[in-house]
Formats: sequence, C-alpha cells, structure tokens
Amino acid sequence: MPAQSPLVDTHCHLDLYADPQAVIRRASARRIYTVGVTNTPSVYQALVALVGSAERIRVALGLHPELAVERRGELPLFQELLGQTRYVGEVGLDYTRSDPAARRVQREILGKIVGWCEEAGGKVVTVHSRRAVDDVIDAFGVFRGTYVLHWYSGSKRALQRAVANGAYVSVNPAMAEETRRMGLIRDVPRERVLTESDGPFVQVSGRPAEPHDTAIAIQALGACWGVSAEEAQEIVHENFACLLRGRGKAEESQA
Ligand code: MN
Repeated sequence: MPAQSPLVDTHCHLDLYADPQAVIRRASARRIYTVGVTNTPSVYQALVALVGSAERIRVALGLHPELAVERRGELPLFQELLGQTRYVGEVGLDYTRSDPAARRVQREILGKIVGWCEEAGGKVVTVHSRRAVDDVIDAFGVFRGTYVLHWYSGSKRALQRAVANGAYVSVNPAMAEETRRMGLIRDVPRERVLTESDGPFVQVSGRPAEPHDTAIAIQALGACWGVSAEEAQEIVHENFACLLRGRGKAEESQA
C-alpha cells in the first residue's frame, strides 16, 4: 500500500501561539506542509528564524488588512522582503468596519501588494476577504501567480467568479462544521481546493487548531466528494504539489 499523503496547511499563524516552537516541532514531526503566515512585514524575519530549517515549513510575508491602515509605513519593508519568499499572506481586505476611507486605504495597499507579486510572478498568496470578496477578486483579476481564498465566507456567485479567474480556496476545521459553507465548496472543482488550520484563531475542542487539525477539513472534504479521507488527503496534497510545480490554473487556461 502506498504511504499516506502528507497533510497540507496553507494558512497557520505559527508566531501567534503561546508556544510556537512546540507547534513547529509537532507539524515538522508529522511532515505536514505548512505555510506560516505573518500579519506584518516587521515580524517576518523573526518567524523565519523561529522556523529555522524545519522540514516542509515555509514562512509567508504578510500585511493583514485589519492592520494595514495603521501599519502602512511597513510597505517599503514588504517590498524589500518580497524577494526572499515565494509565499505571501496574510493579505487581503476586511470590510467589517464600514469606514469608507479605511476601506479605500486597504484597497490601495492590496493593489500595491498584488502589483509587486504580479511583477515577481509565481507567488502563492493566501487571502482574507471578509465582507469584501468582490473587491478582493477585482484586485487580483487573472493573477500571475496563485491566490488562495482563505476562510471564504462570501456568495456562491463570487466564488464562481474567483475560480473562473484561477483562484484556489482553502478549507479549515471551523468551515468543515458549517453545512452551508461546505455546500459552496462542493461546487468548486476539486483541483482548486486546499486545506488550512488558521490556528490559533480556529479552535478545535476548546484549544487552538494546529496544522494536524487540517485532518478535520480533510474528513469533511471526503464526505463532500464522496471519497475516503485518505483519497481526499491525496487530492489536496496533489493540488498543493501541482501549484508548487507552477502548473496551477493560469498556465493551464493560457495553454
Ligand atoms: Mn488568518
């Protein structure tokens, strides 16, 4: 029998756990492909140092939309560090607050980040889109790289538009428990689906989710696709591997 495919966690805030080292150690021991996202460029290098040479763990450069306005002074640092990593996130838009000026600044910042990523090419970007899905999709357009809608909470129509543009979507343990959300995921082509923990923000049995809890999302995807958890895990792993080989959607649709 072939070995079980490894789990994939495309969005984990490794630096925000009480004991990041322990989380990194456990993810590494289980050989989980983990993308450690950051919320500001100024913490990027500290997380790189923390992760060290841990196998299969990569660090993403981010500027979280809820911090973007206040931390826009870090944009030059973002631009400076971008060449050091293939992974970008957490970035995006958050329209929970209705202040139009703040929303506009968020869009300007995201526009710059998307522009730099376009220029560099090949970036894998994990994106926040709470109450701002349409503007996020507009900001990325048909992106030269890969963007992953993390914890998607928008409409079915918007999700279809994103997927038509080449977007991926990542499912976390909290989403796995929501029937309506998984209903939307069922309509996404399987080859565009990934998994994430979004730990420590997502909770599992009253504790912060960790990369291995993506197994809960895998279970739900298996049910959704009518396949075993092992098969679902294989599909998600293959999707991630494909994306890293640069044979994501953009290349396919242009071929
Ligand atoms: Mn997050």
